[in-house]
Amino acid sequence: DLESRKVGPAAGTSVTQAAQDVACEVVRRPFNLSTGPLIRAALIEMGDGDYVFVLALHHIVSDERSLDILWVDLLQFYDGGRIQNPADSDESRQVEYLDYAHWQRERWESGDLGEQVAYWKSRLAGLGELALRLDHQRPRGLSFSGALEKRILPQRLVTELDALRSEQGVTRFMLILSAFNVLLRRYTDQGVVAIGVPASMRVGEETTRTVGFFLNTLVITNDDDADLAFTDFLRQVRSSFLDALANQEAPFEKLVDEIRPQRSLNRNPLFQAMCVEQQPERLQQFAPGISSERFEVTTAASKFDLTLFATGPQSDLTASAPELELTLEYNTDILNRATAARMLRHLEALLESIVSDPEAPLSVLNLVDQAELEELGAFAAPDYDQTDSDLPLLHELVEASAAAAPDEPAVIADETTLTYGGLNRRANRLARELVASGLEVGAPVAVCFDRSPAMVVAALAVLKAGGVYVPLDPDYPADRLQYLIDDCGAGIVIVSDEADESLPGSRAKEVRLRNDGVLTSADPGVKVEAGDDSNLDVDVSVEDLAYVIYTSGSTGRPKGVMVTHSNVVSSTLARRVVYGRVPERFLLLSSIAFDSSIVGLFWPLCTGGSVVLPRRRQEQDIDSLVRLIQEQHVTHTLCIPSLYKLILLHGESERLGTLETVIVAGEACPAAAVRLHFEKLPATKLYNEYGPTEATVWCIVHEVAPRDGRGQVPIGRPTPNAVVRIIDACGRPAPIGVAGEIYVGGRGVSRGYLERPDLTEERFVTGVDATDHEARYYRTGDRGRFTESGTIEFLGRIDNQTKVRGYRIEPDEISAVLEEHQTVAEAAVIVRREGSGAVLSDDPGSLASLLADLDPAEAEALLETIERSI
Ligand code: AMP
Ligand code: MG
Repeated sequence: DLESRKVGPAAGTSVTQAAQDVACEVVRRPFNLSTGPLIRAALIEMGDGDYVFVLALHHIVSDERSLDILWVDLLQFYDGGRIQNPADSDESRQVEYLDYAHWQRERWESGDLGEQVAYWKSRLAGLGELALRLDHQRPRGLSFSGALEKRILPQRLVTELDALRSEQGVTRFMLILSAFNVLLRRYTDQGVVAIGVPASMRVGEETTRTVGFFLNTLVITNDDDADLAFTDFLRQVRSSFLDALANQEAPFEKLVDEIRPQRSLNRNPLFQAMCVEQQPERLQQFAPGISSERFEVTTAASKFDLTLFATGPQSDLTASAPELELTLEYNTDILNRATAARMLRHLEALLESIVSDPEAPLSVLNLVDQAELEELGAFAAPDYDQTDSDLPLLHELVEASAAAAPDEPAVIADETTLTYGGLNRRANRLARELVASGLEVGAPVAVCFDRSPAMVVAALAVLKAGGVYVPLDPDYPADRLQYLIDDCGAGIVIVSDEADESLPGSRAKEVRLRNDGVLTSADPGVKVEAGDDSNLDVDVSVEDLAYVIYTSGSTGRPKGVMVTHSNVVSSTLARRVVYGRVPERFLLLSSIAFDSSIVGLFWPLCTGGSVVLPRRRQEQDIDSLVRLIQEQHVTHTLCIPSLYKLILLHGESERLGTLETVIVAGEACPAAAVRLHFEKLPATKLYNEYGPTEATVWCIVHEVAPRDGRGQVPIGRPTPNAVVRIIDACGRPAPIGVAGEIYVGGRGVSRGYLERPDLTEERFVTGVDATDHEARYYRTGDRGRFTESGTIEFLGRIDNQTKVRGYRIEPDEISAVLEEHQTVAEAAVIVRREGSGAVLSDDPGSLASLLADLDPAEAEALLETIERSI
């Protein structure tokens, strides 16, 4: 199939773009495998006697060697047979490809390859698919669109690699293959990865001059041992490679049929990454009197997810200038160019690390070069306008709002609206009561309230009095509340005057407030709405505690996180930098026991906005919530993504039109929520906030864009005052694109866990920051990675902590409670998605089946233990 085409003249000697384009088009045109031909050529005339000759062959009829053979033949014909072909004489001894194919089939059918097949079956059974993190969701159908990325290794490094490989008695290819294996394991966190390697089946003289496909693919895997010294690993790779060669006759396609790995239509079976050694293209003289050059046609195809080509002359230690070029062919449906370039850069750093210490365990080998280390440093703390270094106290900010606009609404609830003046005065009076009753600076005060104006008054009053605000959710089981009050050592508990009973057995003094925040008149000796209501002057410093918030604890006891004024004020002021505008009407949806309620209360109150409070349990009635948003002109809110999704599903766009900014937080934001948001409220800004209680509410934030609806929604960049590092298993910064544990530093890092020095020491650490060894970081236990642009992706937990409807839960806390019961020796706790099929009681060993087996009284007692404690 020969065609001839004409394009514009060449400038100089190189091939013009127009010619390249034509060549590309010729190469990319699909072949028809049932009709042929499977080889096609084109002659492109560029004028001035310059031509481009294009030869395209389907892989099914050719391999690298075939091209060399064809080239020599072509040369001979062109030259009219004057050039002597050295191989001519033994042409008769060459096999026809058809004979080879027959022979191969017979060998398979005879069963002679049984042992080889058995080898591969044992080697490859149960292999997982390569778990690369993708830049784009993998399309359903297998696509071959690809591109190439190149990197030339420095000659010094190549010399050192060659010295190492000869010392270790391996080939250069084995060395590169080993490094590629280590790289992929780091990228995927998989213990075992499979890499395809082509093997030439041209055995014996008879095939040296036959054009055809004489390749098989061998799949090289590793043993799962990250502590192996690299040199030992190299030996391991060599022996698996040699074993593979000894079993190379079992055709790959047949193995796939035999092994039956889980097939997906959009992935190559058994391996998704390939490693290939290539000879550099030799510049060949075409014919006497004609100058020629070979050029590469970029086919924009990628057979696998990744193929690494190592291109260099057959290594030879005496050569003065060793060269090694690494080319990564990658599938462009799933990976970006920057990712491919980064991979090669990591591979080079890895090779450097290998030559500098070949005895190092694999897990210790480094992927990050100096330049990337600096990049990671910049990602850790983006340049924001720093907020004030001279921080006020939290309640001083609220007092400033009150002084600026005393008549503006501060708290809006069903039946009451508190103005700033009213809120401040009531809080001042309550604070004086607290001081008068002997409250000392730094002493905890429990506040056990539904969302109500009174709760806001109470929180503010505790701070003004120098106390530590300890919010408790009145919906918690009584035993748990009791435990929390005792654990924090609160001497005073502030409750609603509508609460039916005192907190059982509490030794703390109880203070009762009316729903509007006025002390209950029934309280003897207290004058309602009277007394000094000016701001107090209590000697509190920004390093004193502002609040303690409890989170689930894995030892069966919740733990209190101690947060200072400095922590919460810098966390709150950072909102001004990120969000700019005042949250005019903020709808508070979180329980006060979560630190997300701190945002809802203090962000508006510190900036002059209003807090809108839904009724008790109103968030369970989405329609009425939507009505509230509409009626109260809510502009801002923060909630877990699943609740926001419900609001979007229930509310017509018009009714939610006042929303300017919605923040989702607390759980991973699904792409579906993003799509729904932009469909319904395209003018409303959506943010994804991330942060553990221990780092004061938030530390990473992302302004969500419509494109995030197509894949993983990032959590974004560190907030002002936060420093975020992603640390690998060896305590070093994880490379860009590679998962590690999220560590948070900066001003939000809280003091630690109340009365739990061991746990505090375990989770709050120093020595993470190379330039500031004293800087404290909180280890979140969350996994994440930096992307190329410096945004962070959340990748789940390292431990088994989980979230259920926004509640942070350590399953171990629950199993610890269960195991206290005499009938339970060991318990396991799992999270099930609602509607995920089987009812728990069907599982033998589930709580329900255990209860069914117990006698009723025992079952009752066990249930009670659970209900009281969790
Ligand atoms: P809490 O201390 O209750 O605020 O819970 C903090 C934990 O919630 C974090 O350590 C994460 O595991 C999870 N989390 C918080 N925000 C997000 C978010 N935006 N995306 C994913 N997970 C989140
Ligand atoms: Mg939180």
